[in-house]
Amino acid sequence: MPSYDDQTLRQLLDLQREDTAIIRLHERRASLPEARRLQEVQDLVAELEADLDIARKQNDEIAREQSRLEGEIELIDQKAAREDQRMMSGKVANPKELAALQAEIESLKRRRAGIEDQLLDVMVARDAATETVERLDSERSEAQRQKDELSAAVTRLTGDIEAELGGHSGARDEAAAAVPEELLSMYEQIRASKHGVGAAALMGGTCQGCHTKLPAVEAERIRKEKGLQRCDNCRRILIVV
Ligand SMILES: [Zn+2]
Repeated sequence: MPSYDDQTLRQLLDLQREDTAIIRLHERRASLPEARRLQEVQDLVAELEADLDIARKQNDEIAREQSRLEGEIELIDQKAAREDQRMMSGKVANPKELAALQAEIESLKRRRAGIEDQLLDVMVARDAATETVERLDSERSEAQRQKDELSAAVTRLTGDIEAELGGHSGARDEAAAAVPEELLSMYEQIRASKHGVGAAALMGGTCQGCHTKLPAVEAERIRKEKGLQRCDNCRRILIVV
C-alpha cells in the first residue's frame, strides 16, 4: 500500500460525506411517512369501493323487490276493480255467484294487505340501504381526496429527494475521481461491510466511525505517524482532522 499524504486522505472524508448523504437520501426516499400513509389510504379506498359495490347491489336488489311488490299490488287493484265492476253491474244475479264474487273480492283485499306489509318492510330496508350507500360514498370521496393529496405530496417529496440525490451523486463522482484507485477500492471494501462508512475522522481522540475513544498513546501515535491508519476497533480508515 503506497503512502498517502494528508490532503489525499482528507479527500476520502469528502467522499464519505457525499456517500453518507446519498445513503440518507435513499433511506428517506424509502421511508417517507407520506408514502406509508398513502399505501394505507389506497387500501382504504379499495376497501370502500368493494363495500360500496356490495351496498349498491343490495340497494338495487331491494329496489327490484319493491317494484315487484308494487306491480303485484297494481295487478290486485286492477283485478279487484274488475270484480267490483261486475258486482255493481247487476249482470251477476245468481246469489251463489254473487257470494263467490264477494269472497273473491275479500280474498284480494287480504292478499293486498299482506303484500302491503311486505312492501313496508322493503321500503324500510331500502331507506337503510340507501343510507349505507350514501355513507360509504362520502367516506370513499374523503379517502380519495386524502389519497390524491398524499399522492401529490409523495411526488413532490420524491422529486425533491431525487434533485438532492442528483447533486450529491455529481459531488460524489468528483470526490471519488480525486482519490487514488487503490485507496478508493480499499475504502469501498470497508464501506460494503461497515454500514456504508469506510472512512472516519479521528476527532479529539475518538473514531467518528465507531465512536470509540482510542487510548491516548494510540491516538498520539496515529497523529504523529500520519499516512494510512485504521481504527483498531472498527477497522475503518482513520483520518486525522
Ligand atoms: Zn472506529
